[in-house]
Formats: sequence, C-alpha cells, structure tokens
Amino acid sequence: MKYAKSAILLIYTGGTIGMKEDPSDSTLKPFDFSGILSEVPELGKFACRIDSYTFDPLIDSSDVEPGLWQKLAVLIRDSYDDYDGFVILHGTDTMAYSASALSFMLSGLGKPVVFTGSQLPIGRPRTDGKENLISSVEIASAKAPDGSAMVPEVCVFFDSLLLRGNRTMKVNASAFDAFASPNFPPLAEAGIDIKYNLKNIHYKTPDDGDFGISTELDTRVAILKVHPGITEQICRHVLCDPGIRACIIETYGSGNAISKPWFVDIVRESAASGKILLNVTQCLRGEVNMSLYATGMALKRAGVLSGRDITTESALGKLFVLMGSCPDNEKVKALLETSLRGEISN
Ligand code: ASP
Repeated sequence: MKYAKSAILLIYTGGTIGMKEDPSDSTLKPFDFSGILSEVPELGKFACRIDSYTFDPLIDSSDVEPGLWQKLAVLIRDSYDDYDGFVILHGTDTMAYSASALSFMLSGLGKPVVFTGSQLPIGRPRTDGKENLISSVEIASAKAPDGSAMVPEVCVFFDSLLLRGNRTMKVNASAFDAFASPNFPPLAEAGIDIKYNLKNIHYKTPDDGDFGISTELDTRVAILKVHPGITEQICRHVLCDPGIRACIIETYGSGNAISKPWFVDIVRESAASGKILLNVTQCLRGEVNMSLYATGMALKRAGVLSGRDITTESALGKLFVLMGSCPDNEKVKALLETSLRGEISN
C-alpha cells in the first residue's frame, strides 16, 4: 500500500526570522520569503512536502492586529484538509498574543499549528532561526503510532521548547530563550531527539467537536495595570469608559489591588454597569486567589472574576473570541472561569 507523503503549510507573516538589514539606515526590514527557503536547504531533506504561503504585506509583529488572526484562521480552515500541520513564522514581539488568540479561534483542532520565529535574522551566522524553523517543521509533521498528529494544539516552538500557545509569554528581549510558559510544563523538548511530554498534550476528544473557526472578535477590552501611585482619575477613565465591554485588571501577587474606598467604588461602579472585569496577576507564576487578603476579597465582592493562572495575553484573546461570539456578558463570564483550551489550570 502506498501512503501519502505528509504535507506542511509554512505560513510567513513577517518578523525578525525573515528580516534583512537595510544598508541605508541599518534597521531590520522584512524581505521576500523565497529568501528564507534558500537560506534553509535542510528543509528539502524532510520526508514531507512543504508548501509556503506569504502574507502581503509582511509585518513586524509589533503591528499585528486581530485582522491578521482572522486571516490566519481562515487560511488554516481553507487548507485544513490538504495539510498535516501548519508552521507560522511570526515576529516574537506579539507571538504569545497571536498564539493565544488562535488557540481560541480554532476549535476541535486535530492538527499542529506551530508558531515560531527568531531573535536573529535567518541569514546571520549565529541565527536561532534555522534551528527553530527546522524543529517546528519536524514537530508539525510528527505522527503518533496510530498516524494521528503528535501535537494537535496551537503551540510555540522556541529555543528547544515546545510550549502550549495560550500559556506563553515573551520573557527575554535579548536571549535565545525568549519564551516561557511559567504555569504549564513544555509539551516537548528538543535535544538530540524531540521528547514529547505526552501527558501534557491535549488530544482531541469527542466533546471537542469537528474542526471549526470563530472569526468574530469583539476587541472592546482594556488592560489596567495597577501600580503604586495610580490615580483615581486614570482608574475611572479606564474602568468606566463606555467604549469598553471588559477590562483585565493586572493586580499584585495573588490578585490584590488598592484597598482605598475610591478604587473599590470605581470597580463596583464598573461591574454594576455590566462590564466584565477579570483579575490577572502581574506575577509570572502562581495564581489569583481573591479570598486570601482583604484587598482581593474587596474586588471579588465588587464583582471581579478570577483569571486564576491565565496570562494577560491569553485573557485578551479569550475575551475577544468569547465576546465576539456571545452577546450575553453573563455567559461570557461563566466561560471565562472555565478552561477552554488548557489556558488555566484545573
Ligand atoms: N519586532 C520583531 C517582530 O516582532 C521582533 C522579532 O521578530 O523578534 O516582528
């Protein structure tokens, strides 16, 4: 019997991995994707077909907007049956946001969607781009013994670690180990072999349903980072802005914020007006527990929901998707406290 060769779609959105120095001002600017393929002849050695799709225009990921996520979701849906996996080359600056959002926009996923990029352009002698790209392709085409995908999740591969996409954060602006997933173990680690941590990978269940996408996004979300010295005026301006439907409040430690009556009153007023308020900790590790301290309890009583150990990047994507598909804030609130794609710990 003849088995079909597996096929990977390599999607290039822009980012350092495919950037080149502009001699006129020495800044990095995106260049044509065909340049990447000629820089990595190793890709030709894989026992799988690699097709590519290049976004036009290519963008520095600092310019990413939800429209790019919608295009990615549609592209993956339209080519889903033709490929065994997808590798998305993306700038590192907002990769954690894009991977998080895509994880909620794609449902019933049975194939790998691996985001990767690099800290140094692929043409540079010490680039991390080659290794990241080659390992990502290997992971996207990896199969379990039954022929199903080894990692049917939206994930990020960077510097030897494969991480669940909606758990990642960019944690280092200068080093090769730029990404971490502080509250969830890696899905795989690449050394001499790629070791898959099977117990941490989500495999599709009948409850996940058929593959589908949600492209309606409601972006009326603000992020308020509390800090010593934050003023009443700023808090009111953000939390009571009639143009927002939800606010992620980035709090201290286990979910604590200012206990002063003016702050709690503003939060109460915002919640009473129907806004969705989600408490996400500023700490990298650990989780929100609003019952520990009086300051946290005041937020809970005022109607703030616990984001538990979700990242801000993930909370943003989850809110955009849930609010986009659901006009009822009470339903959104119920789903916010539920893990939909492994983004919060049970
Ligand atoms: N500014 C670049 C981007 O995010 C940085 C990178 O790719 O690493 O597109």
